[in-house]
Amino acid sequence: RALHVRKIHEYLFEIPPHGKMRVPARLYLDERSLRELMENQSSEEWNALKQLENVACLPGIVKAAMAMADVHPGYGFPIGGVAAFDPKDGGVISVAGVGFDINCGVRCLRTHLTRRDLTGKEEKLADTMFEVIPAGLGSTGELKLSTKEIDRVLREGARYAVRLGYGREDDLEYIEEHGCLSDADPSVVSHTAKQRQMAQVGTLGSGNHYVEVQVVDQIYNARAAEAFGLELGQIVIMLHTGSRALGHQIGTDYLPFLEKATRKYGIEVPDRELVCAPIESPEGQQYFRAVMAGANCAFANRQVLAHLVRQAFWKALRVPDTAIETLYEVAHNTVKWEVHEVNGERRRLLVHRKGSTRAFGPGRPELPERYRAVGQPVLVGGTMGTASYILVGTEQGMRETFGTALHGAGRAKSRRQAKRQYPAERIIEELRKQGIIVRAHGKASISEEAPGAYKDVEHVVEVMCNAGIVARVARLRPIVCLKG
Ligand code: 5GP
Ligand code: MN
Ligand code: MN
Repeated sequence: RALHVRKIHEYLFEIPPHGKMRVPARLYLDERSLRELMENQSSEEWNALKQLENVACLPGIVKAAMAMADVHPGYGFPIGGVAAFDPKDGGVISVAGVGFDINCGVRCLRTHLTRRDLTGKEEKLADTMFEVIPAGLGSTGELKLSTKEIDRVLREGARYAVRLGYGREDDLEYIEEHGCLSDADPSVVSHTAKQRQMAQVGTLGSGNHYVEVQVVDQIYNARAAEAFGLELGQIVIMLHTGSRALGHQIGTDYLPFLEKATRKYGIEVPDRELVCAPIESPEGQQYFRAVMAGANCAFANRQVLAHLVRQAFWKALRVPDTAIETLYEVAHNTVKWEVHEVNGERRRLLVHRKGSTRAFGPGRPELPERYRAVGQPVLVGGTMGTASYILVGTEQGMRETFGTALHGAGRAKSRRQAKRQYPAERIIEELRKQGIIVRAHGKASISEEAPGAYKDVEHVVEVMCNAGIVARVARLRPIVCLKG
């Protein structure tokens, strides 16, 4: 397919509106990564560009359908994408724009330990983490909740977990939305969804979800690093998980519901996966309240997991829990009301971030006071064999991408392809030689998540930083990785 792509600058390309597109599609890529993406167009599976164009066709979309450098195809919307909708222009809410793992996100814990404190104790720590943190497909946690309690999880999020004794009050300050969304309504979440979750709060899940012990091996921005409490050689922990079975069930339940709404409101969608409802319709409102409940479940889940991480550090190394603080927690499968300036006008928009991270610049009231002057920490996972990054949001990002940046390296090979190409034993051995210890509940997750299955995180981060959307603060290297 001949495609008209306009180069805006070295790191930003635009596909002008054509066909039913209401706004342009924009991609933060360089020439090389754009070429790679275009080459993959022939395969259905990899058609992220087409998906981005489809998103640009949705009613009420503002400015552009945008993709970050970690873009790859997802369900309906590409992963690594952001799209904002104006309710006044018939803007919509969509399951595909949020993703099935509602409020999947990353928590970064900073410790008082240095690399040397762990020397010779890595294996012990890995074993203890494996023992203490429930993970793997269908695993259950120590928390068994009643129907009443699961409703409180859905209403109160991380706050409820703290109330039950998981983690500390001061964690909440450093979680996006303080770990609790007030629009959540458990009554619009199915019984099936709740039942699936009753024994799964405080579990990591499978595959792409992980708890990783890392060392800060590079500092790029002394002022932001100081604000974030980061130093060279420091040990930090990254924890990545979401709303588990509950979130997935909400997505599944609401697809047919929104399909009906799509027909009812006469919305033309270029792809069935993009079923949606006007934000202000009863259907749109109901799905929104369900998503908020799913999001609270993810907040609670990460709060319990943070507690389990602290437990593992105590058990293995006698590190007190006060030596492990929440640096920040930010999600990357979300839909939120936010005020943004568009062409000099302040507008209240519904922002869908699908596999992309909120990355607010300095001064925003949503940020914890401690970070407000420098901007929001942006947590970017790489792979279990490469670096991960802590970045910071910028003013330019606020203007260009609704304060949004990348969420990871981004998948380069499908799970199926990776499984064939990377036998688990070989990957574990290769990582061991690099001094990285991996523990996993399933072999499949090692193969599917092998470093080679992902794009080069250095390159992806470079593109987003050179584009001015985020700035580097610190680079992290993996030491121990616990996979689902
Ligand atoms: P997603 O939420 O889209 O499944 O994954 C987010 C990102 O996490 C991926 O794009 C990938 O770069 C990163 N990632 C996946 N597995 C690991 C891991 O084991 N360790 C780290 N640090 N990052 C990972
Ligand atoms: Mn997830
Ligand atoms: Mn995720």
